[in-house]
Amino acid sequence: MLVFAIETSCDETSICLMKNNKIIKHITHSQEIHSIHGGVVPELASRSHLEKLQEMTIKLFKEEDVNPYKIDVFAATCGPGLIGSLLVGSTFAKSLAISYNKPFFPVNHLEGHILSTSFNNNIKYPNLNLLLTGGHTQIYLMKNENNIRLLGETIDDAVGEAFDKVAKLLELKYPGGSEIEKKASKGNENSYNLPKPLINKNNYNFSFSGLKTHINLLVKKNNLNENFIQDLSASFQKTVSQIIITKLDKGLDKLHKKGISIKSLSVVGGVSNNNYIRKKLENLFERKNIEIYFPLKEMMSDNAAMIAWVCIKKFDSSKKDIFFKPDSRLQIKNI
Ligand code: ZN
Repeated sequence: MLVFAIETSCDETSICLMKNNKIIKHITHSQEIHSIHGGVVPELASRSHLEKLQEMTIKLFKEEDVNPYKIDVFAATCGPGLIGSLLVGSTFAKSLAISYNKPFFPVNHLEGHILSTSFNNNIKYPNLNLLLTGGHTQIYLMKNENNIRLLGETIDDAVGEAFDKVAKLLELKYPGGSEIEKKASKGNENSYNLPKPLINKNNYNFSFSGLKTHINLLVKKNNLNENFIQDLSASFQKTVSQIIITKLDKGLDKLHKKGISIKSLSVVGGVSNNNYIRKKLENLFERKNIEIYFPLKEMMSDNAAMIAWVCIKKFDSSKKDIFFKPDSRLQIKNI
């Protein structure tokens, strides 16, 4: 099956041509316009998708000598995400589908992240899926790839959002995740004892906003010199990873008591790029003899390859999805 997929849920314009389980071509354009605003501006994101999408698609078809009539399905992210951005990508994909008289397949962005590790790993079930992005922090239980249940999520900021907000407080560049990691590598992670909200609660939920507020107070009391930034970045990164590790560890025990013995963990989303958090997770799960999977590098942050992959796995020719409306709050439903 030859699939052309589009991802435009936030500030990455991404397209991918995938044949079965092979990426033929995958291009992602990260919008830089938002960096001067310190965060994504929805209206600017939609306009930028509109400008880039056509140019990128024409270029890809030309370079790969693609006959669009040979494409079997046109797929696009239909939520969750910024509604204007979702409308640009999905309408563009639907227009191509109508032009070439082919089916359109709507993809849930979260399902794209969740299934991303199955592209390069043979998943052992039941699988725990840890989704860490700028918009979501969630834990899913996957009994198989069609049985995906949300166990818990953040009740306020997403983990990637917390990284960005702390980076902004420390006057680092946007997006903040990689900047904090760089500064943290030179700092002392035991410099500051930061709060770990919800860590002792008997559920799978996270909270990161209190951590950010505490850091804001520390920033106001101290000089923003290099040592302070490095030490605070290291302490913040350590605290975030402790929160994640503790919740997962307790979650595994809870599931075990219910008779569910987890065989593997998938860590997906942009924050899975963070080497410090990866190492801590690897240590915990290796000790417990549970396999741990990460997506391919190009399938970690928002990307169209994971959208194409969901289409390859789940396209159903009996459904007519051309009228599927994008939904900014689309959820994962059990199928
Ligand atoms: Zn995402």
